[in-house]
Amino acid sequence: MTNTHEILEALKMRGGQQEDLFAAARLARRLSLGNEVTLRGVIEVTNICRVNCDYCPMRRDNTHENDRFSLSEDDIVDSVHAIVEAGIGVVLLQGGETPRVLPVIERALKRITNEYPRLEIILNLGNFSHDQYARLREAGATSYILKHESSDVALFERLRHEPFEERMHCLWDLKSLGFRVGTGLMTGLPGQSMESIVSDLMLAREVGVQMCSVSPFVPAPNTPMEGLPAGDNELALNVIACMRVLFPFMSIPSVSALERTHTGGQRRGLDAGANVLTINFSKSKDREKYLIYGKNRFIVSASHVETIVRQAGMVVKASDSVASTTMGAPV
Ligand code: SAH
Repeated sequence: MTNTHEILEALKMRGGQQEDLFAAARLARRLSLGNEVTLRGVIEVTNICRVNCDYCPMRRDNTHENDRFSLSEDDIVDSVHAIVEAGIGVVLLQGGETPRVLPVIERALKRITNEYPRLEIILNLGNFSHDQYARLREAGATSYILKHESSDVALFERLRHEPFEERMHCLWDLKSLGFRVGTGLMTGLPGQSMESIVSDLMLAREVGVQMCSVSPFVPAPNTPMEGLPAGDNELALNVIACMRVLFPFMSIPSVSALERTHTGGQRRGLDAGANVLTINFSKSKDREKYLIYGKNRFIVSASHVETIVRQAGMVVKASDSVASTTMGAPV
């Protein structure tokens, strides 16, 4: 798979051809990363957001409808303890985009890195300035995920009401500050062309990211896009497989949105070449308010992960003992 035309063809594959594509992706994964799944523990830090994305129920226009929450420094540190105690070596702090959380996150990061210097801490908090990112890096964040969502500039700007240029600027700032950087896309957006999905993969290559994800569009309630059809899981799975073949060492998650519309979807993500799963560590009272895919989103638990990793014939990667205490089995 070396040129644009071949990637386009691969994105359209179904049936036997698709199975061959997945097998090639699994081979690439085995040769580069072994058969290991890396686990991340996610903490949802706030549902407050400055941005008004048409696909997201936590969009700014819903400010008055949603019960807003924002975790305290202690809440964050407590949840990190739970993640480390579960034997997981990667923490993901995700949330709406608001500068309000930055001082809290910075203080929490300092405590966390002091306690666990080898923990990987990924932030997924949206666009900030170079200086704000620099402070987060200084406080101990190692990695940052900022999905470019779609490389189709008109589509991006129509759905997010924000300049595409600014998002890209943020990605380059993150790179220049030495973060491990992640980007990614959504598939099945209205008016999105297959050619633009090929460009999404080229963009990931150009920026030189270490992590890349794809989620099928989920029409979430209480958004301007709620009546639209859901993105096709098969296309998202083919994107995973193409990413793996093109970028063998990339961290590629099999996201919960794959399970949201199809039972077994997340397991198929592993079959298509993904190597990362994320377990939710938000407290249930906050979880109910983090409406990313609406109220009945699929919450990934440790037992679900254990099952699909086994079904996919993979193993959970040991977390290299980030905690000073002895830990139990990973899941
Ligand atoms: N505020 C942060 C985090 C956003 S939520 C930021 O702007 O980066 C994390 C990701 O979930 C988004 O980047 C988007 O790709 C995905 N997402 C959000 N709503 C979605 C939906 N309705 N369908 C599919 N993916 C969605």
